[in-house]
This record gives sequence, structure tokens and C-alpha cells, in this order.
Amino acid sequence: MANGQLIFALDPKDEPKVRHLLRLLASIVPWVKIGFQAFTVLGSKCFEELEELKYKVFLDLKFHDIPNTVARDVANMTKRGAQMINMHASGGFDMMHAAKKSADISAAEKGIESPTLLGVTILTSMYEQDFQTYFASRRKLIEQAVYFAEQAKAAGLDGVCASPLEIEPIRKACGDDFIIVTPGIRPEWAAQGDQRRFTTPAEAIKRGANYIVVGRPILEATDPVKATKKILAEISKA
Ligand code: C5P
Repeated sequence: MANGQLIFALDPKDEPKVRHLLRLLASIVPWVKIGFQAFTVLGSKCFEELEELKYKVFLDLKFHDIPNTVARDVANMTKRGAQMINMHASGGFDMMHAAKKSADISAAEKGIESPTLLGVTILTSMYEQDFQTYFASRRKLIEQAVYFAEQAKAAGLDGVCASPLEIEPIRKACGDDFIIVTPGIRPEWAAQGDQRRFTTPAEAIKRGANYIVVGRPILEATDPVKATKKILAEISKA
């Protein structure tokens, strides 16, 4: 079970490193997160390759567009084999609702399970002050994150990507079945980088994260296998 909670964020610079890391971590990490960097390197045919390596794929392209466009993007990616897909909750209720409908239809047409659809609340690289300035908002960041989670749930999405610092209020508002995926994870031994609202892996699990996303603490480690195993051990003890 512990392994099931770790998603490796594959955000490296070049193709040799992408392929090397995919092979290196295949037997210990069940989920890989493919963002724009990896998607650009590997291309849209990567799903077969990742399936061969037995990875489940979280496609982190954070869709944000008009409902019709996002519905088509999600349908295409569902058919290709993405098992988890996200979109910005700020794209609105109609966009998320259209995405959910098209994911279900495309999965049924292909005879596969519908992917887990997630709304991105507020990026974990922002402080409270950044949020209020960028969005010209007087609301507290936490209120907005919970509001987005409620909107995502009402639109039919399965869960959200949120900071580990927001797990408890989102859980309270959206219930036990709502999936909470948390980037913004930093083991005590790793550099903070541009993350602002973060916790350790153990803390995120204790607060109730269903999945934690870890990138640079593994990518930039001198020994990525050792770093991954340390994180898995921390999760299993949490
Ligand atoms: O390297 P690091 O562990 O910070 O990677 C976190 C990953 O999660 C990155 O790929 C980043 O794009 C993504 N992410 C995030 N915050 C969100 C949503 C996604 O950091 N709110």
C-alpha cells in the first residue's frame, strides 16, 4: 500500500535522463507523473512504453481552456491510456463537467476504466501574499483552495491536486472518498527549491494525502534509487 501513494514527477532536462530514470525506478515506483517537459521529450506515444514498464500514468498537463477544447484533450488522453489527468479548477465548473463527461464516454468506448480526474487548486509555489496579489483577492488562500475543491467535486471530478497544508480543510469539505494528491513535498534532507507550501512525505500522509508527488528530491539526488527508497520508508512509517 505504501508504494501506491508515491508518484514520481518526471521533469528532467533531456531524453537520455528521462529514459534512464524510467528504467531505474520502474520496479519501485508504481506511478509516474508526465508533465510538459517529459511529454515534449517522449511524445504522445509514450503511454505504450510506460505501460511496458508497468507504470501507471498521471498526465500533468494542467488543462485550462474552453470546455469543448478541454473535453477533447481529456478524451484523447483517456484513449491513449492516461490513468490520472488534471486541469486547473479555475477553468470553471462547465470546463470540469465537460471533461468528466468526455472522459467517461471515451473510456466506455474503449472498454477501459475512466481516468481519475483532478482539479488543480492553487499552485504550491505560491505564498498567501502571492495569491492575494496575483488574483487581486481579499480571500484567504485556504478559502479559495477549498472553494475550488468543492467546485471540482460538484462538477464530477474525483479529486484535487493541492498543497499538503490544505489537506485537512479540503477533506472536511469534500469527504473521505475525495482524492487528494499533494505535490509540494520535501523530505527533511532535500532542498526547498521554488516550493512554498510544502511538508515532508510523512506529514502529508499523516494529514491524509492519498498520493504524494515527488520530483526534484529524487531527480536531483546523487542516487535516485536510494532517495526513492528513503521516501518509501518514511511513507510506510507514517
Ligand atoms: O520537483 P518537485 O517535487 O517540486 O515537483 C513537483 C511537481 O508537481 C512538479 O512537476 C510541478 O509541476 C507539480 N505541481 C506542483 N504544484 C501543484 C501542481 C503540480 O508542484 N499545485
